[in-house]
Amino acid sequence: MATILVTGGAGFIGSHLCAALLAQGNKVLCVDNLFTGSKKNIQGLDGDFEFIQHDIIDPLFIEEKVDQIYNLACPASPTHYQHNPIRTVKANTIGMMHMLGLARKHGARILQASTSEVYGDPREHPQQETYWGNVNPIGIRSCYDEGKRVAETLCFDYHREHNIEIRVARIFNTYGPNMAADDGRVVSNFIVQALAGKPITIYGTGKQTRSFCYVSDMVAGLLALMNSDERGPVNLGNPGEFTVLELAENIIALTNTKSEIVFQELPADDPQQRQPDITLANNKLGWQPTVQLEEGLKQTIAYFTKSQ
Ligand code: NAD
Ligand code: UDP
Repeated sequence: MATILVTGGAGFIGSHLCAALLAQGNKVLCVDNLFTGSKKNIQGLDGDFEFIQHDIIDPLFIEEKVDQIYNLACPASPTHYQHNPIRTVKANTIGMMHMLGLARKHGARILQASTSEVYGDPREHPQQETYWGNVNPIGIRSCYDEGKRVAETLCFDYHREHNIEIRVARIFNTYGPNMAADDGRVVSNFIVQALAGKPITIYGTGKQTRSFCYVSDMVAGLLALMNSDERGPVNLGNPGEFTVLELAENIIALTNTKSEIVFQELPADDPQQRQPDITLANNKLGWQPTVQLEEGLKQTIAYFTKSQ
């Protein structure tokens, strides 16, 4: 079996990915600075697992031979990536270069966790991989959006210049157990608010849309992409598109809460609509999501109910 390095492995998606790689019998090296991730997410992991507390903005040296790298190290919630935007840019540039350098040294294949945010506030709907995006280069989301765009550029330049084997996944909004209660993203916010009987905070009118993918489907997509011949970028997400208001109504119904909805100011540059075209993932990876929103929300609500 392989030795696989997962950066951001103590985070939400990363912890599920580590679990899946361990279940396949791989050795997993989990690298995380614990900014948004937590040891709780990786505590129960079974198998050949090593945790390395490290910030990818600093160079990383690994002695044993690494076969594959999944690079997920980057805060994903607007609240967190805007907390120290310069560090967010550094993680996606300097950190990305460190991971590509590591891949080069080890002859390892590297998968970059990119994002639907590279499409910005999209003018094409649904978004295909061929769309170049509509991103504000100087706004409050730019540290993340432009950071992830330059990370993709670095992957392709390292591939062209140094023949590194790259895989680029464009991940659309993903949710599920192991999201942090204070993460700030919409699904965790609404569930935590509903369970506490507190007001559900909709930013703007709630007419903006997102397409929500359950984490087990996302992990299956990441594994399929890493082990395929497709370099990407490949969209990974659930094409089921919902308004934020519909999401709130779903969560209110499923939790049976008495929480009321309150409307708050829409943050700057908040994309109006988002839906992945997953034809490429379907054709090249034979992948498509299987967990629909209601089922995924039930699992996530059960997780937050237990962990509160
Ligand atoms: P998360 O915040 O739960 O996980 C990120 C992990 O990276 C955390 O454990 C954090 O401590 C760690 N980290 C952050 N900066 C680091 C650094 N400089 N060095 C080392 N570790 C660092 O978020 P997530 O939702 O699990 O996202 C994982 C990856 O997937 C991120 O790269 C994110 O951009 C990408 N992504 C996620 C989504 C989503 O909806 N969840 C959507 C698009 C892209
Ligand atoms: N959102 C909201 N209330 C919240 C958190 C988020 O209405 O408490 C909205 C947010 O403005 C955005 C959508 O939900 O339109 C998704 O936000 P999230 O931060 O989860 O993801 P992203 O905007 O990065 O897709």
